[in-house]
Amino acid sequence: MIGIAGISRDITERKSVEVELQREQEFLKTLLASLSEGIVACDAEGVLTLFNDASREFHHLPDEPIPANQWAQHYDLYLPDGQTPMRQEDIPLFRALQGESVRNVEMMIVPKQGRPRTVLANGNALFDAEGQKIGAVVAMHDITERKQAQEALERARDELEMRVAERTAELQAANARLEIELAEREHAERALRESEMRFRTLVEQSPLSTQILTTDGRITQVNRAWEQLWGVTLDQIPEYNLLQDPQLVAKGVMPYIQRGFAGEALEIPAVRYDPNETLPDRTRSPEPVRWTRSFIYPVRDEAERIRQVVLVHEDITEQVRAKVELEESENRFRQLAEHINEIFWMYDAERLRMLYISPAYEHLWGQARDGLDGDPRSFLEAVYAEDRERVHAALEQQQRGQQTLTEYRITRPDGTLRWVRDRGFPIKDEGGRVYRVAGLAEDITEHKRAEEERAELLQREQAARAEAEAAIVVRDEFLSIASHELKTPVTSLVAYSQMLERRAQRGAALPERDRRAVHVLADQAGRLSRLIDSLLDISRIQTGHFTLNRAPIDLCALSARVVTEVQMTVERHTIECVCSDEPLIVEGDDLRLEQMLQNLVQNAIKYSPNGGRISVTIRQDEGHAVLAVSDQGIGIPHEAYSQLFQRFYRAGNSADSVISGMGLGLYVVKEIVERHAGAIEVVSAEGQGSTFTVRLPLLAPTPASSL
Ligand code: ADP
Repeated sequence: MIGIAGISRDITERKSVEVELQREQEFLKTLLASLSEGIVACDAEGVLTLFNDASREFHHLPDEPIPANQWAQHYDLYLPDGQTPMRQEDIPLFRALQGESVRNVEMMIVPKQGRPRTVLANGNALFDAEGQKIGAVVAMHDITERKQAQEALERARDELEMRVAERTAELQAANARLEIELAEREHAERALRESEMRFRTLVEQSPLSTQILTTDGRITQVNRAWEQLWGVTLDQIPEYNLLQDPQLVAKGVMPYIQRGFAGEALEIPAVRYDPNETLPDRTRSPEPVRWTRSFIYPVRDEAERIRQVVLVHEDITEQVRAKVELEESENRFRQLAEHINEIFWMYDAERLRMLYISPAYEHLWGQARDGLDGDPRSFLEAVYAEDRERVHAALEQQQRGQQTLTEYRITRPDGTLRWVRDRGFPIKDEGGRVYRVAGLAEDITEHKRAEEERAELLQREQAARAEAEAAIVVRDEFLSIASHELKTPVTSLVAYSQMLERRAQRGAALPERDRRAVHVLADQAGRLSRLIDSLLDISRIQTGHFTLNRAPIDLCALSARVVTEVQMTVERHTIECVCSDEPLIVEGDDLRLEQMLQNLVQNAIKYSPNGGRISVTIRQDEGHAVLAVSDQGIGIPHEAYSQLFQRFYRAGNSADSVISGMGLGLYVVKEIVERHAGAIEVVSAEGQGSTFTVRLPLLAPTPASSL
């Protein structure tokens, strides 16, 4: 050591400042300690420099010089929710240190020991006199209680709100229920009204007469059908009481009505009711007496008490009438069916049951009807075995809806045979189904017998006819041969007799008697010859050898000649020929036409035995020559007209008389006329004469003849 140097300085002032400063610091310390606000401060490096008592209380920790990044964890700093730890940059002191002026930042301190708090932090950075940042300070105001109070308030408000909401909801629910109830009630009321209306309409519109009565028998309501049925309205019979209606007592239905009033639903038997009997002169119905079938039933309330009684009538007058009519008609039918000879039968086609069979069955079958009760087809047992199948087939047809007509034989118990004609008619319902089969069976044994006899007779007649036809053939053959054989000898007989007669007339050597004999001989030979000619003509017609030699012929000239010739041979008849001036030319066979006229004129003479006038007229008519031969003789019966022109036919007038003939003349005449394309007809009146008219076609005029 070399010395000690010292420097003395007056530090009084300094010392007094220091004292002042210390005092101030003491004051501040006390102030800070007594503050309820927590104050923390840090230096520029972020090292905590100040932590007052309140802060310590908040954190339950002393201050320690720890860096800012550990503050949050160390000092249990959380966001206001108390759950989320604060990040460094959220911490108010840190933010203040960064230069931010922190205002009312809410945060929570949740120390490991001690109670959590909510604080509001305010802070700023600190600067020295030169404006250098020297740190930051934050003041924390404990708002825990305020917060809690606030939260309690909020909770209370929430609760209140909730309760209000709950109550409101309850009220709303009650309201909704009420509304539903109201709607339901309204609906029910409407349904009730509708149901009542329906019931009323139903009753009103029902075709069945309906009346509603009080439990003591007075009518309170009726429908239109009731008014129509009885011809009165309710107000016209105010005094009526059903339970006191003597007619219902008399007709025996009151007990049923009483049962209805006692609570039973039941049908009242049909009754014939006359309103005039109970209440005279009230009904306006033209037919007041009605047959009705009724139904009565009580109407009860919820307590099962009878409130009303309903009585329904059905008018069955028509049904009853129809039933009576049906019975009458059935009776009439039965009377008829039981008294006819035919058997009327009817069976049920579905159940195969006999419905009816008339008593005539017993007579024809010789068996009792009740034998058919079990099986209506048992009548078949009596049917001939050979016929049974046919009858069976007919039954099947009936079932199928067809009408049948069968004839069959039966054997009766006494062994006799009967013929039956059975007609069956199916009876169908509206659907076309056969539900019944009815029929009529009759005994046709006599018919059958007569039929058999007729058949036998017919057979015999046919045999006889065949025999006769064969005989005719033989006759015709015989006549043909005979006439051919006779022709030659008769021709010479005629020739010689005529020669003899001529000689006798010339020589006059014969006595008068012989001369007449010769005359008769010649005359009869002539007749015989003409007869044989006729027979030969017949034979020729039959064999097709009857031929014509045609040439133009003047019918007038021919007629005049024939008339003149014939007139000479008769004395008691006058024959006249009336002809037009014009010649009437036909094309024909001269000899055949003369033969035709001869036959007609000879008949006119022959069938006028008392003489008289005979006229032959010829005229022209529409291209035809019309030749008519009229006499005033015996006439021809009308029924003979159609057969007059058949060979060998002689009408009644000639057959009965003595006028001889063979029935050949007109046959030949007709043949000749038809071969000349003409026609012949006859008009006659018995006892007054006949007219035969022949129409022949005129020959068309040739150019030469017209010149
Ligand atoms: P026939 O004179 O030989 O009997 P016809 O064939 O000439 O045969 O005549 C047939 C029938 O017609 C006669 O039998 C007669 O009954 C009837 N007859 C024909 N002409 C006459 C007449 N002019 N008057 C009445 N009857 C007649």
